[in-house]
Amino acid sequence: MKSRMQSEKAGTSYDAIVVGGGFHGCSTALHLAKKGLSVLVIEKNAVGRHASGVNAGGVRQLMRDVAEIPLSMAAMDRWFDLESLLGPELAQSCHFIGDVGQIGVAGDSSEMAWCEKRVNELRGLGYDFEELLSRNDIRKLLPNVSELCVGGVISRRDGHANPARTTRAFRLRAEQLGAMFEEGIGATGLQQSGNRWVVETSAGPRHAQVVVNCGGAWANEFARYAGDELPLEPVGLTLMVTARLPKFLDAVVVGIDRTLSFKQTESGTVVIGGGVPAIVDMPNETAETVADRMVESATTVLDFFPQLRNATIVRTWAGLEAVTPDLIPTIGPSEAAAGVWHAFGFSGHGFQLGPIVGSVLADLIVDGKSALSIDAFSPNRFTSGAPVFAGHSH
Ligand SMILES: Cc1cc2nc3c(=O)[nH]c(=O)nc-3n(C[C@H](O)[C@H](O)[C@H](O)COP(=O)(O)OP(=O)(O)OC[C@H]3O[C@@H](n4cnc5c(N)ncnc54)[C@H](O)[C@@H]3O)c2cc1C
Repeated sequence: MKSRMQSEKAGTSYDAIVVGGGFHGCSTALHLAKKGLSVLVIEKNAVGRHASGVNAGGVRQLMRDVAEIPLSMAAMDRWFDLESLLGPELAQSCHFIGDVGQIGVAGDSSEMAWCEKRVNELRGLGYDFEELLSRNDIRKLLPNVSELCVGGVISRRDGHANPARTTRAFRLRAEQLGAMFEEGIGATGLQQSGNRWVVETSAGPRHAQVVVNCGGAWANEFARYAGDELPLEPVGLTLMVTARLPKFLDAVVVGIDRTLSFKQTESGTVVIGGGVPAIVDMPNETAETVADRMVESATTVLDFFPQLRNATIVRTWAGLEAVTPDLIPTIGPSEAAAGVWHAFGFSGHGFQLGPIVGSVLADLIVDGKSALSIDAFSPNRFTSGAPVFAGHSH
C-alpha cells in the first residue's frame, strides 16, 4: 500500500476513498489515516445525517448475536479508551457513559426462561459478561420497576453515548490525521483504471487504490457498482424523547421480547426506542414516525415504569437503518472487485461497533491481517460464486 507521500496528486486522487460519512465511514477514515494513508470521505448529504447521527446511542454487548460478540467486546474496550484514539477533548465530547449496565427486563416466565437459556449458552461458549438477574436482584438495580418484571439479564459494562457528537468527534480526529471530507456529493459509479479505482461522483471523478463502502441504507447500490449483488433492506426506526425528569435511572433498559428500550440522559430526558418501525421514504432519504405505532412502545415503558405516566413526549424522530437478512453486518472484501471493501448492514445495533470495525478494516487493508476475524460477516455468505467485475454506474 502506498503512503500518503506517494499519492498521485491531491484533490482527486487518494490512497483510499470511503463512501459514506456515517460513524463507520468516519471511523474507517480515521483508522486508515492513522496508518498513514491519504483518505477521502464522500458523503452525499452531511456527515452523521443518517443513522449514525440520530440513533439511540446505546453501547451494548447485551443480547448480541453470538457472531458479533468478539467484535463487540473489542469495541467496548475502545469505548473505555476513547481518549487514546481521539485525545481528551474529543473523547469527552462523545459523552460516553459506561459501566451503568444494559438490563433486559423479563415480563413473564417465558422471557425469563429465554434469559436463562441465553446466559447458559454464553457460559458454554466461555463468555460471562451477561448475568442472570432474579426478581430481587433487578429491584436493587431498578428500584422503580413494576411488579410485572420477574427478573432479567444484565451486561454490566454497557452504557450509552451521544451519537451525533461521537460521529463528529471521529470525523474531526480523522481530519486531524489528514483525512479529507467532501459533503453533498454522492458516489454514482465505479470504474477500474489499471490497479486503481475511479469513483464517479456528482462532482466529478475521484481516484483511489482502495474503496470502502460504508453507505448505510444505500450501501447495496454502491455494492452493485462494484459488481456485488448484496441483500439489504432499508428500515426506518423510531425514537421519542420526554421532557426532563428527576434522575431515576442509570442503566439502559431493554425488552426481551417486547418493543422496549429506554435510557435517561445526563440532562434528565428519557429516550425511548426499541425498534418501532417508521415509514421509509427512500426517494426523499427520510423516514416518518407513525404516532399509532409508538403507542405500543410507550405502553410497554409504562407497564414496567408506571411512574412515567405523566411524562411529556417532546419530540419523535426516525432514522434510516440498513438491515441484512441475518441481522448481522456485511463486512469484508468485495468478491468481484479487488481493493473494494464493504462495511454496512448493521441492522439496528451498529453504533457500538463503530470504533472497532474501522480499525479492523484498516488492519486488513493496510497490513493484510487483523487480530479479530470478520469471517462471519463475509459478503460471500449471501452469494454463490464471484461475478466478474465489469464496471457499473447510474
Ligand atoms: C433510530 C435508531 C436507533 C438506533 N439505536 C442504536 C443503538 O442504540 N445502539 C447501536 O449500537 N445502534 C443503534 N442504531 C444503529 C446504528 O445507528 C447504525 O447501525 C449505525 O449508525 C450505522 O452506521 P453507518 O455509518 O453504517 O450508516 P449511516 O450512519 O447511515 O451512514 C451511511 C452514510 O452513507 C451515505 N451514503 C450512502 N450512499 C452514498 C453514496 N453513494 N455516496 C455518498 N454517500 C453515501 C449516507 O448519506 C449516510 O450518511 C440505531 C439506528 C436507528 C436508525
